Amino acid sequence: MKKLSIISLLLCLCLTVTMVLSACGDNENTSKSSPDEPATQAAESDGIDYMALVNKTHPLPDDWEEKLETVHMTNSVGDDVEVEKKAYDAYLELKAALEAEDIHVDLDSARRSVADQQRIMDEFTEEYGADYAAKTVAKPGYSEHHTGLALDLYLIIDGKDVVENEDMIQYTDIWAKIHSKLADYGFILRYLDGEEHITGYGYEPWHIRYIDNVDTAKEITSKGTTFEEYLGAYTGGDVSIDYGNSEIYTEDELKDAVIQIKCKFAFWGDVDLKSIKYAGDEAVTDENLKWMNELAPDANYTQVVEFLMDFHTPKDVGEMTFNADSDYTDYQWWLARTADGGWEVVSFGY
Ligand SMILES: [Zn+2]
Repeated sequence: MKKLSIISLLLCLCLTVTMVLSACGDNENTSKSSPDEPATQAAESDGIDYMALVNKTHPLPDDWEEKLETVHMTNSVGDDVEVEKKAYDAYLELKAALEAEDIHVDLDSARRSVADQQRIMDEFTEEYGADYAAKTVAKPGYSEHHTGLALDLYLIIDGKDVVENEDMIQYTDIWAKIHSKLADYGFILRYLDGEEHITGYGYEPWHIRYIDNVDTAKEITSKGTTFEEYLGAYTGGDVSIDYGNSEIYTEDELKDAVIQIKCKFAFWGDVDLKSIKYAGDEAVTDENLKWMNELAPDANYTQVVEFLMDFHTPKDVGEMTFNADSDYTDYQWWLARTADGGWEVVSFGY
């Protein structure tokens, strides 16, 4: 996302949701870091862990911001961008290698502090309410951009800046060439196509992550795996999913809906997901569709679907309202479809 006001940022987010139908409902939310931060922050001797996983379920490590050393640069459109020091050096090498092949990129955004993200969250909460803010803005502390190691590139095509996501995504050949060089400089592509249920984000060809190790970057890239899977942090792979025998929806349509459920479920901490099953065509009624539209009056849903989930809660349920160490069966998930075909989780519970 580029230099946008809160309102246009919102519109842009909606566009992104439309564009990547199978992506998790809430998108990576970006903004600029405040210009009055010091140019370089004090470093501590033990430094940051370049392999740290920060995603929607793994927060930024506590002492990260004290240890982080950054540099500031000004991009071709005149914005200040803050980047972790080594990541920036590696980026400059990558950029030079790309320029040798007449591919031109620049940095849209990189580091964003937790405080900045909190400020955005507060603004959204004030303006649109807590529910909407939680759905739309990345939770402070849980964005990879906090690390300073996540870089959003933009393209310069025939001397013109191409900065909007929906424009950039058209240049598939150019992104393929860029992606083929990332690992040589210690970067990986972070939000892979078709892995939204694991990463929590739709495909973003521009979002790259520095991991400070060329061999590891090459291994991850050649395996075509997500960072989550490489680190063993994704455990949702062995869940049984039963798509039933719908005469209304194809299995692909139901798969898209299940991805949305998994995206939400990813926030449930250590709850152990056992199974998800299609509740049947009998739940696809006008009455239930009407109920979905009553729950979200502005959404104009056109279709409804229900799934049933079995799961087991951990010994410590924290702030969740579940009983500890208990089996839950046939827990209901209701999703509805917008005019553009994307599914949204509208309600869950008993
Ligand atoms: Zn990004």
